[in-house]
Amino acid sequence: MNDVLPTDAPMWELFENTVQTVLKSYGFQQIRTPIVESTALFSRGLGAVTDIVEKEMYSFTDALNGDQLTLRPESTAGVVRAALEHNLTYDGPKRLWYAGPMFRHERPQRGRYRQFQQVGAEAIGFAGPDIDAELIMLCQRLWDDLGLQDVRLELNSIGNAEERNRHRADLIAYFELHAELLDTDAQRRLHSNPLRILDTKNPTMQAMVNGAPKLLDYLDAESLAHFEGVQNILRHNNVPFTINPRLVRGMDYYNRTVFEWVTDQLGSQGTVCGGGRYDPLVEMFGGKPTPACGFAMGVERVLELMKANGEQFAPNQCDVYVVHQGVQAQLQASVAAERLRDAGLDVVLHCAAAAGGASFKTQMKRADSSGAAFAVILGEDEAAQGTVTVKPLRGEADAAKGSSQTTIPFETLSDYLVDQIVGDGDHDHGDHGDHGEHVHYRH
Ligand code: ATP
Ligand code: MG
Repeated sequence: MNDVLPTDAPMWELFENTVQTVLKSYGFQQIRTPIVESTALFSRGLGAVTDIVEKEMYSFTDALNGDQLTLRPESTAGVVRAALEHNLTYDGPKRLWYAGPMFRHERPQRGRYRQFQQVGAEAIGFAGPDIDAELIMLCQRLWDDLGLQDVRLELNSIGNAEERNRHRADLIAYFELHAELLDTDAQRRLHSNPLRILDTKNPTMQAMVNGAPKLLDYLDAESLAHFEGVQNILRHNNVPFTINPRLVRGMDYYNRTVFEWVTDQLGSQGTVCGGGRYDPLVEMFGGKPTPACGFAMGVERVLELMKANGEQFAPNQCDVYVVHQGVQAQLQASVAAERLRDAGLDVVLHCAAAAGGASFKTQMKRADSSGAAFAVILGEDEAAQGTVTVKPLRGEADAAKGSSQTTIPFETLSDYLVDQIVGDGDHDHGDHGDHGEHVHYRH
Protein backbone atom coordinates (compact mmCIF):
# COMPACT_ATOMS: atom_id res chain seq x y z
CA MET A 1 0.00 0.00 0.00
CA ASN A 2 1.42 3.31 -1.02
CA ASP A 3 1.52 6.89 0.11
CA VAL A 4 1.07 9.38 -2.70
CA LEU A 5 3.37 12.22 -1.75
CA PRO A 6 2.85 15.89 -2.65
CA THR A 7 5.53 15.68 -5.36
CA ASP A 8 3.45 13.07 -7.18
CA ALA A 9 0.07 14.65 -6.50
CA PRO A 10 0.10 16.98 -9.55
CA MET A 11 0.45 13.97 -11.81
CA TRP A 12 -2.48 12.23 -10.11
CA GLU A 13 -4.50 15.41 -10.53
CA LEU A 14 -3.62 15.66 -14.19
CA PHE A 15 -4.64 12.05 -14.71
CA GLU A 16 -7.87 12.45 -12.75
CA ASN A 17 -8.84 15.65 -14.54
CA THR A 18 -8.11 14.14 -17.93
CA VAL A 19 -10.00 10.94 -17.27
CA GLN A 20 -13.02 12.84 -15.94
CA THR A 21 -13.08 15.09 -18.98
CA VAL A 22 -12.87 12.15 -21.35
CA LEU A 23 -15.59 10.15 -19.56
CA LYS A 24 -17.84 13.19 -19.51
CA SER A 25 -17.30 13.71 -23.22
CA TYR A 26 -18.90 10.28 -23.79
CA GLY A 27 -21.81 10.98 -21.45
CA PHE A 28 -20.66 8.76 -18.57
CA GLN A 29 -21.92 9.65 -15.09
CA GLN A 30 -20.05 8.98 -11.89
CA ILE A 31 -21.16 6.46 -9.28
CA ARG A 32 -19.54 6.04 -5.84
CA THR A 33 -20.10 2.77 -4.06
CA PRO A 34 -18.79 1.65 -0.66
CA ILE A 35 -15.30 0.21 -0.25
CA VAL A 36 -16.70 -2.61 1.88
CA GLU A 37 -19.28 -5.02 0.51
CA SER A 38 -20.57 -8.35 1.73
CA THR A 39 -18.17 -11.19 0.93
CA ALA A 40 -20.89 -13.14 -0.88
CA LEU A 41 -21.19 -10.39 -3.49
CA PHE A 42 -17.70 -11.15 -4.74
CA SER A 43 -17.63 -14.91 -4.24
CA ARG A 44 -20.92 -15.18 -6.16
CA GLY A 45 -20.15 -12.51 -8.71
CA LEU A 46 -16.53 -13.13 -9.60
CA GLY A 47 -16.65 -16.92 -9.48
CA ALA A 48 -15.09 -19.23 -6.93
CA VAL A 49 -12.20 -20.34 -9.14
CA THR A 50 -10.62 -16.96 -9.81
CA ASP A 51 -7.35 -15.52 -8.51
CA ILE A 52 -9.27 -12.89 -6.61
CA VAL A 53 -11.72 -15.13 -4.78
CA GLU A 54 -9.25 -17.97 -4.28
CA LYS A 55 -6.49 -16.00 -2.65
CA GLU A 56 -6.61 -12.23 -2.97
CA MET A 57 -9.54 -10.93 -0.94
CA TYR A 58 -9.25 -9.07 2.33
CA SER A 59 -12.24 -10.64 4.04
CA PHE A 60 -13.18 -10.43 7.68
CA THR A 61 -15.99 -11.01 10.10
CA ASP A 62 -17.52 -7.92 11.63
CA ALA A 63 -16.97 -8.63 15.33
CA LEU A 64 -20.03 -6.60 16.26
CA ASN A 65 -22.63 -8.55 14.31
CA GLY A 66 -20.95 -11.46 12.56
CA ASP A 67 -21.37 -10.03 9.02
CA GLN A 68 -18.93 -11.46 6.46
CA LEU A 69 -17.33 -8.47 4.75
CA THR A 70 -14.66 -7.84 2.12
CA LEU A 71 -12.64 -4.82 1.06
CA ARG A 72 -13.64 -4.52 -2.59
CA PRO A 73 -11.07 -6.15 -4.92
CA GLU A 74 -12.81 -4.63 -7.95
CA SER A 75 -15.84 -2.47 -8.59
CA THR A 76 -17.99 -4.11 -11.22
CA ALA A 77 -19.80 -6.27 -8.66
CA GLY A 78 -20.51 -3.26 -6.42
CA VAL A 79 -21.68 -1.07 -9.30
CA VAL A 80 -24.03 -3.75 -10.58
CA ARG A 81 -25.34 -4.32 -7.05
CA ALA A 82 -26.00 -0.58 -6.70
CA ALA A 83 -27.61 -0.35 -10.13
CA LEU A 84 -30.00 -3.15 -9.15
CA GLU A 85 -30.65 -1.85 -5.65
CA HIS A 86 -31.58 1.60 -6.98
CA ASN A 87 -33.16 0.35 -10.18
CA LEU A 88 -30.90 2.65 -12.16
CA THR A 89 -31.81 1.21 -15.54
CA TYR A 90 -35.59 1.67 -15.10
CA ASP A 91 -35.65 4.40 -17.77
CA GLY A 92 -33.06 2.97 -20.10
CA PRO A 93 -29.44 1.95 -20.21
CA LYS A 94 -26.85 3.78 -18.12
CA ARG A 95 -23.27 4.82 -18.73
CA LEU A 96 -21.51 4.83 -15.36
CA TRP A 97 -17.96 5.35 -14.18
CA TYR A 98 -16.11 5.13 -10.88
CA ALA A 99 -12.71 5.75 -9.39
CA GLY A 100 -11.19 4.62 -6.13
CA PRO A 101 -9.05 2.18 -4.20
CA MET A 102 -9.26 -1.60 -4.63
CA PHE A 103 -7.68 -4.19 -2.35
CA ARG A 104 -6.04 -7.47 -3.27
CA HIS A 105 -3.72 -9.59 -1.20
CA GLU A 106 -1.06 -10.18 -3.84
CA ARG A 107 2.70 -10.36 -3.73
CA PRO A 108 3.70 -6.71 -3.86
CA GLN A 109 6.03 -5.78 -6.72
CA ARG A 110 6.46 -3.00 -9.21
CA GLY A 111 3.02 -2.22 -10.64
CA ARG A 112 1.24 -4.60 -8.27
CA TYR A 113 0.06 -3.34 -4.91
CA ARG A 114 -2.32 -4.46 -2.20
CA GLN A 115 -4.20 -1.20 -2.28
CA PHE A 116 -4.30 0.27 -5.76
CA GLN A 117 -6.50 2.69 -7.64
CA GLN A 118 -8.77 1.84 -10.49
CA VAL A 119 -10.83 4.01 -12.77
CA GLY A 120 -13.52 2.08 -14.55
CA ALA A 121 -16.61 2.43 -16.65
CA GLU A 122 -19.69 0.23 -16.75
CA ALA A 123 -22.28 0.55 -19.51
CA ILE A 124 -25.34 -1.29 -18.23
CA GLY A 125 -28.26 -2.24 -20.47
CA PHE A 126 -26.49 -2.09 -23.83
CA ALA A 127 -26.56 -5.19 -26.05
CA GLY A 128 -24.85 -4.14 -29.27
CA PRO A 129 -21.20 -4.12 -30.30
CA ASP A 130 -21.34 -0.32 -30.60
CA ILE A 131 -20.92 0.19 -26.85
CA ASP A 132 -18.00 -2.27 -26.71
CA ALA A 133 -16.28 -0.18 -29.38
CA GLU A 134 -17.22 3.06 -27.65
CA LEU A 135 -15.58 1.95 -24.40
CA ILE A 136 -12.45 1.00 -26.29
CA MET A 137 -12.35 4.29 -28.18
CA LEU A 138 -12.84 6.17 -24.93
CA CYS A 139 -9.68 4.49 -23.62
CA GLN A 140 -7.83 5.34 -26.83
CA ARG A 141 -8.82 8.98 -26.40
CA LEU A 142 -7.55 8.93 -22.84
CA TRP A 143 -4.15 7.55 -23.90
CA ASP A 144 -3.99 10.21 -26.62
CA ASP A 145 -4.90 13.02 -24.24
CA LEU A 146 -2.31 11.78 -21.75
CA GLY A 147 0.31 11.61 -24.50
CA LEU A 148 0.78 7.84 -24.15
CA GLN A 149 1.79 6.18 -27.37
CA ASP A 150 2.97 2.71 -26.46
CA VAL A 151 -0.31 1.19 -25.38
CA ARG A 152 -1.69 -1.40 -27.75
CA LEU A 153 -5.09 -3.02 -27.87
CA GLU A 154 -5.58 -6.78 -27.69
CA LEU A 155 -9.01 -8.07 -28.50
CA ASN A 156 -10.80 -11.39 -28.30
CA SER A 157 -14.23 -12.90 -28.00
CA ILE A 158 -14.86 -15.61 -25.42
CA GLY A 159 -18.36 -16.31 -26.73
CA ASN A 160 -21.22 -17.42 -24.51
CA ALA A 161 -21.49 -20.18 -21.92
CA GLU A 162 -22.62 -22.79 -24.39
CA GLU A 163 -19.79 -22.05 -26.81
CA ARG A 164 -17.30 -22.11 -23.97
CA ASN A 165 -18.64 -25.48 -22.82
CA ARG A 166 -18.06 -27.05 -26.21
CA HIS A 167 -14.59 -25.57 -26.34
CA ARG A 168 -13.90 -26.59 -22.77
CA ALA A 169 -14.29 -30.30 -23.45
CA ASP A 170 -11.76 -30.16 -26.28
CA LEU A 171 -9.47 -27.91 -24.25
CA ILE A 172 -9.37 -30.32 -21.31
CA ALA A 173 -8.70 -33.21 -23.64
CA TYR A 174 -5.84 -31.26 -25.22
CA PHE A 175 -4.31 -30.34 -21.88
CA GLU A 176 -4.61 -33.95 -20.69
CA LEU A 177 -2.59 -34.99 -23.71
CA HIS A 178 0.13 -32.60 -22.51
CA ALA A 179 -0.29 -33.24 -18.80
CA GLU A 180 3.46 -33.49 -18.22
CA LEU A 181 3.82 -29.81 -19.21
CA LEU A 182 1.18 -28.43 -16.84
CA ASP A 183 2.44 -26.56 -13.79
CA THR A 184 0.68 -26.96 -10.45
CA ASP A 185 -1.59 -23.97 -11.04
CA ALA A 186 -2.66 -25.40 -14.36
CA GLN A 187 -3.19 -28.88 -12.93
CA ARG A 188 -5.42 -27.41 -10.27
CA ARG A 189 -7.44 -25.52 -12.88
CA LEU A 190 -7.61 -28.32 -15.43
CA HIS A 191 -11.15 -29.26 -14.50
CA SER A 192 -12.34 -26.19 -12.60
CA ASN A 193 -11.31 -23.36 -14.93
CA PRO A 194 -9.25 -24.65 -17.86
CA LEU A 195 -9.79 -21.44 -19.85
CA ARG A 196 -7.59 -19.61 -17.37
CA ILE A 197 -4.70 -21.94 -18.24
CA LEU A 198 -4.56 -20.12 -21.59
CA ASP A 199 -3.73 -17.01 -19.60
CA THR A 200 -0.60 -18.54 -18.02
CA LYS A 201 2.54 -16.49 -17.82
CA ASN A 202 4.72 -19.57 -17.30
CA PRO A 203 7.29 -19.51 -20.14
CA THR A 204 7.69 -23.27 -20.25
CA MET A 205 4.00 -23.67 -21.06
CA GLN A 206 3.78 -21.05 -23.82
CA ALA A 207 4.40 -23.28 -26.85
CA MET A 208 1.96 -25.93 -25.64
CA VAL A 209 -0.71 -23.36 -24.80
CA ASN A 210 -0.30 -21.69 -28.20
CA GLY A 211 -1.30 -24.95 -29.83
CA ALA A 212 -4.48 -25.38 -27.78
CA PRO A 213 -7.93 -25.34 -29.43
CA LYS A 214 -9.06 -21.75 -29.98
CA LEU A 215 -12.32 -20.59 -28.51
CA LEU A 216 -12.83 -18.33 -31.55
CA ASP A 217 -13.30 -21.47 -33.65
CA TYR A 218 -16.27 -22.48 -31.48
CA LEU A 219 -18.31 -19.28 -31.78
CA ASP A 220 -21.72 -19.42 -33.45
CA ALA A 221 -22.94 -16.92 -36.04
CA GLU A 222 -24.42 -14.50 -33.53
CA SER A 223 -21.29 -14.24 -31.38
CA LEU A 224 -19.15 -13.92 -34.50
CA ALA A 225 -21.37 -11.12 -35.84
CA HIS A 226 -21.05 -9.26 -32.54
CA PHE A 227 -17.29 -9.62 -32.58
CA GLU A 228 -17.14 -8.56 -36.23
CA GLY A 229 -19.31 -5.54 -35.34
CA VAL A 230 -16.85 -4.36 -32.70
CA GLN A 231 -13.92 -4.74 -35.08
CA ASN A 232 -15.74 -2.90 -37.85
CA ILE A 233 -16.32 0.19 -35.75
CA LEU A 234 -12.72 0.15 -34.53
CA ARG A 235 -11.41 -0.12 -38.10
CA HIS A 236 -13.68 2.71 -39.22
CA ASN A 237 -12.21 4.90 -36.51
CA ASN A 238 -8.63 3.87 -37.17
CA VAL A 239 -8.16 2.22 -33.80
CA PRO A 240 -5.51 -0.44 -34.31
CA PHE A 241 -5.85 -3.78 -32.52
CA THR A 242 -4.59 -7.31 -32.61
CA ILE A 243 -6.74 -10.34 -31.99
CA ASN A 244 -5.26 -12.45 -29.24
CA PRO A 245 -7.10 -15.78 -29.17
CA ARG A 246 -5.52 -16.56 -25.78
CA LEU A 247 -6.90 -13.49 -24.12
CA VAL A 248 -9.39 -14.50 -21.44
CA ARG A 249 -10.38 -12.34 -18.52
CA GLY A 250 -10.02 -13.30 -14.89
CA MET A 251 -13.61 -13.08 -13.78
CA ASP A 252 -16.34 -15.62 -14.51
CA TYR A 253 -18.85 -12.99 -15.49
CA TYR A 254 -17.29 -12.08 -18.82
CA ASN A 255 -18.68 -13.18 -22.17
CA ARG A 256 -18.15 -12.27 -25.81
CA THR A 257 -15.89 -9.20 -26.19
CA VAL A 258 -12.82 -9.05 -23.96
CA PHE A 259 -9.97 -6.62 -24.36
CA GLU A 260 -6.77 -5.47 -22.72
CA TRP A 261 -4.56 -2.45 -23.23
CA VAL A 262 -0.96 -3.56 -22.92
CA THR A 263 2.40 -1.84 -22.90
CA ASP A 264 5.92 -3.23 -23.12
CA GLN A 265 7.31 -0.44 -20.99
CA LEU A 266 6.30 -1.78 -17.59
CA GLY A 267 7.91 -5.22 -17.59
CA SER A 268 5.67 -8.10 -16.62
CA GLN A 269 2.96 -5.84 -15.17
CA GLY A 270 2.18 -4.49 -18.64
CA THR A 271 -1.63 -4.58 -18.65
CA VAL A 272 -2.84 -1.09 -17.87
CA CYS A 273 -6.51 -1.69 -18.55
CA GLY A 274 -8.82 -4.66 -19.00
CA GLY A 275 -12.43 -4.96 -19.89
CA GLY A 276 -15.18 -6.73 -21.68
CA ARG A 277 -18.77 -7.68 -21.87
CA TYR A 278 -20.52 -9.28 -18.90
CA ASP A 279 -24.06 -9.99 -20.05
CA PRO A 280 -24.82 -12.70 -17.42
CA LEU A 281 -23.91 -10.69 -14.29
CA VAL A 282 -27.05 -8.65 -13.66
CA GLU A 283 -29.20 -11.76 -13.84
CA MET A 284 -26.76 -13.65 -11.59
CA PHE A 285 -27.37 -10.93 -9.02
CA GLY A 286 -31.12 -11.42 -9.25
CA GLY A 287 -32.02 -8.75 -11.80
CA LYS A 288 -33.76 -9.01 -15.15
CA PRO A 289 -31.40 -10.17 -17.91
CA THR A 290 -29.48 -7.00 -18.74
CA PRO A 291 -26.50 -6.89 -21.09
CA ALA A 292 -23.51 -4.84 -19.99
CA CYS A 293 -19.94 -4.02 -20.82
CA GLY A 294 -17.12 -2.26 -18.98
CA PHE A 295 -13.44 -1.83 -18.25
CA ALA A 296 -11.12 -1.09 -15.34
CA MET A 297 -7.72 0.52 -15.55
CA GLY A 298 -4.91 0.41 -13.02
CA VAL A 299 -4.09 4.02 -12.27
CA GLU A 300 -0.63 3.37 -10.76
CA ARG A 301 0.39 1.57 -13.95
CA VAL A 302 -0.90 4.39 -16.14
CA LEU A 303 1.02 6.91 -14.03
CA GLU A 304 4.14 4.78 -14.23
CA LEU A 305 3.77 4.85 -17.98
CA MET A 306 3.37 8.62 -17.95
CA LYS A 307 6.59 8.83 -15.97
CA ALA A 308 8.35 6.41 -18.31
CA ASN A 309 7.30 8.70 -21.15
CA GLY A 310 9.15 11.53 -19.51
CA GLU A 311 6.19 13.45 -18.16
CA GLN A 312 7.58 15.84 -15.61
CA PHE A 313 5.70 18.06 -13.32
CA ALA A 314 6.96 21.05 -11.46
CA PRO A 315 4.82 20.86 -8.38
CA ASN A 316 4.32 24.58 -7.93
CA GLN A 317 2.69 25.27 -4.65
CA CYS A 318 1.27 28.65 -5.60
CA ASP A 319 1.32 31.61 -7.99
CA VAL A 320 2.34 34.17 -5.39
CA TYR A 321 4.30 33.97 -2.14
CA VAL A 322 3.76 36.84 0.30
CA VAL A 323 6.62 37.84 2.63
CA HIS A 324 6.54 40.51 5.30
CA GLN A 325 8.42 42.08 8.16
CA GLY A 326 6.98 44.09 11.00
CA VAL A 327 3.66 44.02 12.82
CA GLN A 328 1.80 46.42 10.55
CA ALA A 329 3.25 44.78 7.45
CA GLN A 330 2.08 41.36 8.61
CA LEU A 331 -1.48 42.65 8.91
CA GLN A 332 -1.28 44.24 5.46
CA ALA A 333 0.20 41.01 4.09
CA SER A 334 -2.82 39.04 5.22
CA VAL A 335 -5.10 41.53 3.45
CA ALA A 336 -2.97 41.35 0.31
CA ALA A 337 -3.09 37.54 0.30
CA GLU A 338 -6.88 37.48 0.70
CA ARG A 339 -7.36 39.99 -2.13
CA LEU A 340 -5.15 37.98 -4.46
CA ARG A 341 -7.16 34.86 -3.63
CA ASP A 342 -10.35 36.83 -4.35
CA ALA A 343 -8.82 37.51 -7.75
CA GLY A 344 -8.39 33.77 -8.35
CA LEU A 345 -4.69 33.39 -7.67
CA ASP A 346 -3.09 30.72 -5.48
CA VAL A 347 -1.27 32.41 -2.65
CA VAL A 348 0.97 31.24 0.17
CA LEU A 349 1.31 33.73 2.99
CA HIS A 350 4.52 33.30 4.93
CA CYS A 351 3.62 32.29 8.45
CA ALA A 352 6.07 33.40 11.08
CA ALA A 353 7.06 31.04 13.86
CA ALA A 354 6.93 33.96 16.26
CA ALA A 355 5.81 37.55 16.07
CA GLY A 356 8.29 39.57 14.05
CA GLY A 357 9.02 36.63 11.75
CA ALA A 358 12.00 35.34 9.89
CA SER A 359 14.50 37.46 8.00
CA PHE A 360 13.60 38.55 4.46
CA LYS A 361 16.38 36.31 3.22
CA THR A 362 14.87 33.20 4.78
CA GLN A 363 11.42 34.15 3.57
CA MET A 364 12.64 34.77 0.02
CA LYS A 365 14.23 31.31 0.02
CA ARG A 366 10.85 29.84 0.89
CA ALA A 367 9.25 31.95 -1.82
CA ASP A 368 11.76 30.60 -4.36
CA SER A 369 11.22 26.97 -3.46
CA SER A 370 7.44 27.35 -3.53
CA GLY A 371 7.61 27.67 -7.30
CA ALA A 372 5.66 30.93 -7.17
CA ALA A 373 5.98 33.25 -10.15
CA PHE A 374 6.07 36.33 -7.94
CA ALA A 375 6.94 37.31 -4.41
CA VAL A 376 4.90 40.08 -2.83
CA ILE A 377 6.99 41.95 -0.28
CA LEU A 378 5.66 44.04 2.57
CA GLY A 379 8.24 45.69 4.81
CA GLU A 380 7.91 48.54 7.22
CA ASP A 381 8.40 51.11 4.43
CA GLU A 382 5.66 49.61 2.29
CA ALA A 383 3.30 49.38 5.26
CA ALA A 384 3.93 53.00 6.15
CA GLN A 385 3.52 54.28 2.57
CA GLY A 386 0.57 52.17 1.47
CA THR A 387 2.63 50.40 -1.19
CA VAL A 388 3.73 46.88 -1.91
CA THR A 389 6.80 45.49 -3.69
CA VAL A 390 6.45 42.81 -6.33
CA LYS A 391 9.41 40.67 -7.37
CA PRO A 392 9.36 38.23 -10.31
CA LEU A 393 10.88 34.93 -9.20
CA ARG A 394 11.06 32.79 -12.27
CA GLY A 395 12.70 33.05 -15.65
CA GLU A 396 9.53 33.62 -17.61
CA ALA A 397 7.94 36.04 -15.19
CA ASP A 398 11.32 37.71 -15.05
CA ALA A 399 11.71 38.08 -18.79
CA ALA A 400 8.16 39.38 -19.10
CA LYS A 401 8.82 42.18 -16.73
CA GLY A 402 12.49 43.03 -16.83
CA SER A 403 14.40 41.51 -13.99
CA SER A 404 13.89 43.95 -11.21
CA GLN A 405 11.26 44.35 -8.57
CA THR A 406 8.76 47.20 -8.64
CA THR A 407 6.94 49.02 -5.89
CA ILE A 408 3.31 49.83 -6.63
CA PRO A 409 0.35 51.25 -4.70
CA PHE A 410 -1.17 48.61 -2.43
CA GLU A 411 -4.63 49.08 -3.97
CA THR A 412 -3.39 48.14 -7.45
CA LEU A 413 -1.75 44.85 -6.40
CA SER A 414 -4.48 42.42 -7.54
CA ASP A 415 -4.94 44.01 -10.94
CA TYR A 416 -1.21 44.20 -11.46
CA LEU A 417 -0.53 40.54 -10.63
CA VAL A 418 -3.57 39.17 -12.44
CA ASP A 419 -2.31 41.01 -15.53
CA GLN A 420 1.16 39.61 -15.09
CA ILE A 421 0.12 36.05 -14.36
CA VAL A 422 -3.07 35.53 -16.34
CA GLY A 423 -2.23 38.16 -18.90
CA ASP A 424 -5.65 38.41 -20.58
CA GLY A 425 -6.64 41.81 -19.27
CA ASP A 426 -9.72 40.40 -17.57
CA HIS A 427 -9.47 41.47 -13.96
CA ASP A 428 -12.66 40.01 -12.68
CA HIS A 429 -11.34 36.59 -11.87
CA GLY A 430 -13.46 34.23 -9.87
CA ASP A 431 -11.48 31.42 -11.34
CA HIS A 432 -8.56 31.57 -13.65
CA GLY A 433 -9.33 28.72 -16.00
CA ASP A 434 -6.46 27.74 -18.26
CA HIS A 435 -4.03 29.60 -16.15
CA GLY A 436 -4.31 27.03 -13.36
CA GLU A 437 -3.29 24.22 -15.66
CA HIS A 438 -0.60 26.28 -17.27
CA VAL A 439 1.12 27.18 -14.06
CA HIS A 440 0.62 23.97 -12.14
CA TYR A 441 1.29 21.43 -14.81
CA ARG A 442 4.15 23.09 -16.60
CA HIS A 443 6.04 20.27 -18.32
P1 ATP B 1 -3.27 -9.24 -13.59
O1 ATP B 1 -3.39 -10.30 -14.63
O2 ATP B 1 -2.12 -8.29 -13.80
O3 ATP B 1 -3.31 -9.79 -12.17
P2 ATP B 1 -6.07 -8.69 -13.41
O4 ATP B 1 -6.68 -9.43 -14.53
O5 ATP B 1 -6.12 -9.28 -12.05
O6 ATP B 1 -4.55 -8.31 -13.76
P3 ATP B 1 -8.15 -6.74 -13.45
O7 ATP B 1 -8.89 -7.36 -12.35
O8 ATP B 1 -8.64 -6.88 -14.81
O9 ATP B 1 -6.63 -7.21 -13.38
O10 ATP B 1 -7.93 -5.19 -13.13
C1 ATP B 1 -7.82 -4.20 -14.15
C2 ATP B 1 -6.50 -3.48 -14.06
O11 ATP B 1 -6.21 -3.10 -12.74
C3 ATP B 1 -5.31 -4.32 -14.45
O12 ATP B 1 -5.18 -4.37 -15.84
C4 ATP B 1 -4.19 -3.58 -13.80
O13 ATP B 1 -3.80 -2.46 -14.58
C5 ATP B 1 -4.80 -3.09 -12.54
N1 ATP B 1 -4.44 -3.96 -11.41
C6 ATP B 1 -4.93 -5.18 -11.10
N2 ATP B 1 -4.37 -5.66 -9.96
C7 ATP B 1 -3.50 -4.70 -9.54
C8 ATP B 1 -2.62 -4.57 -8.42
N3 ATP B 1 -2.54 -5.51 -7.49
N4 ATP B 1 -1.88 -3.43 -8.32
C9 ATP B 1 -1.95 -2.46 -9.25
N5 ATP B 1 -2.77 -2.53 -10.31
C10 ATP B 1 -3.54 -3.62 -10.47
MG1 MG C 1 -4.76 -10.27 -10.83
